[in-house]
Amino acid sequence: MSTGTIISCPGGFVDGAEYAHSGAAVYVTNPATGQVFAELPSATEGDVDVAVRAAGRAFDQWSVLAVRKRGELLGRAADHVEGHLDELVPLLTREQGKTLRDARIELTKAVDTLMHYVGLSKALRGAHTPNLDPGIEGIVLRRPLGVVGAIVPWNFPTTLLSNKLAPALIAGNTVVAKPASTTPLTTLRFAELLTEGGLPPGVFNIVTGSGSSTGTALVTHPEIRKIAFTGSTAVGEQIMALAARGTMRVTLELGGSGPMIICDDADLGAAASAASMGRFYNCGQACLAIKRVYVFDSVADEVIDQITAKAKRLRVGRGDAEGAQMGPLHTAAQRDEVARQVERTLAGGGTLTAGGGRPQDPELSDGFFYLPTVIADPPHDAPMAIEEVFGPALPIWRVADLHEAIERANASQFGLGSSVWTRDLRRAREAAQRIEAGYTWINSPTKVYDELPFGGWKSSGYGKEHGQEALDYYTETKSVVIGSTP
Ligand code: NDP
Repeated sequence: MSTGTIISCPGGFVDGAEYAHSGAAVYVTNPATGQVFAELPSATEGDVDVAVRAAGRAFDQWSVLAVRKRGELLGRAADHVEGHLDELVPLLTREQGKTLRDARIELTKAVDTLMHYVGLSKALRGAHTPNLDPGIEGIVLRRPLGVVGAIVPWNFPTTLLSNKLAPALIAGNTVVAKPASTTPLTTLRFAELLTEGGLPPGVFNIVTGSGSSTGTALVTHPEIRKIAFTGSTAVGEQIMALAARGTMRVTLELGGSGPMIICDDADLGAAASAASMGRFYNCGQACLAIKRVYVFDSVADEVIDQITAKAKRLRVGRGDAEGAQMGPLHTAAQRDEVARQVERTLAGGGTLTAGGGRPQDPELSDGFFYLPTVIADPPHDAPMAIEEVFGPALPIWRVADLHEAIERANASQFGLGSSVWTRDLRRAREAAQRIEAGYTWINSPTKVYDELPFGGWKSSGYGKEHGQEALDYYTETKSVVIGSTP
């Protein structure tokens, strides 16, 4: 581990101000250089308790505000964050590794999501049934849950936070968030900016530290009413088991192994571009990334050639370097895991057509870089067909027809994103109906929209983020029956 000048910070943000944690130091590394550049103390169980209690006190005021008022306050605060993107973008690049361009896209999206729910705050409606029985009517009340714990990974620290924060706050909850221990800095500044922009103290608090200690303390705190988690399936399952003890609410956005089906009648150029963007964006570290391609045999050579050419053309470099299109992986461990998955897959067969190792450039030797990699025709039971590959490596298989493609797409424990490319409406409809996944893009890049619910089937998770639906996961309903006797 090489080190340079190290920034120190107190670690927490509680009740509208910085809060000094009392636990062991956590270090933040620049993935492009391998250098540690920040340290912060982690939150102990006691520190988590302080943050949750602050959120509990704030809940008493926040939950009774008019929903329109909550929207106004969050909207002004989000505007303030937007005014500071130039400061946040390089910070996100430095701790996460992504390019400056991708950091700006991420942060802009994080603000957009806050604004989306600010807009929805003006459109909330209730349910009323007039004649349950003669003279008897029913209404459905919605109430916020209380203090929500948000646990967020390192791949998109701010958008994955906004996806939870925005519906939670608009629904009237308060939040204690724990970012990944490797990406705490942008989140801390994000919280500070929201408070400067007018979000009341205690409504949004941050604790930082490892998942095993700080994360567990948050999940098991008796005043937490819900955990909204994004991360690995293994940790999601642990959280669900812990939550079961107190029947605490959870939403789990977990791993994915998104299939893309390319039919023989597709616009092959557009499909190859979407596969390349869908796999290599954010250095392949996205839950909804395209992680398996199934292409009709008759057009497979052309598609493999096109995706391979795109992979070879991608400019890999430090996130802050001019013209870099793909940065490093987030950690050395993440890079080594992807390298192992590629090696284990190739050991069973298939042809490496691009990448397959680290870049040769000595300027990049200390960072966690790995070349955009394409493997054609690996075995169907290869590790890359079965496991989630969280990095820039894409396997491509040939299939005889749509039936085989869908069967193979569904032969996975995951069910998050999926994509189909065809000009035939019947094929598109069949794929959308039969693929087991929470999202199917038809002839469209893998982009998530705030307007539509997003969430996984099978081992990819439970519950929805985005859309009007997300608000449902931050409220409890109560049915009220009103009789006619005074
Ligand atoms: P994790 O699931 O371990 O981490 C995600 C978040 O959960 C982090 O904030 C982490 O803290 C926290 N956490 C970890 N353990 C616990 C726990 N026991 N209780 C509460 N919180 C906990 O993912 P990793 O970052 O370790 O990534 C491992 C793999 O998971 C990746 O290779 C990828 O396959 C998958 N993954 C998938 C993501 C997706 O969006 N689908 C996102 C991230 C990872 P800490 O920072 O200390 O680890």
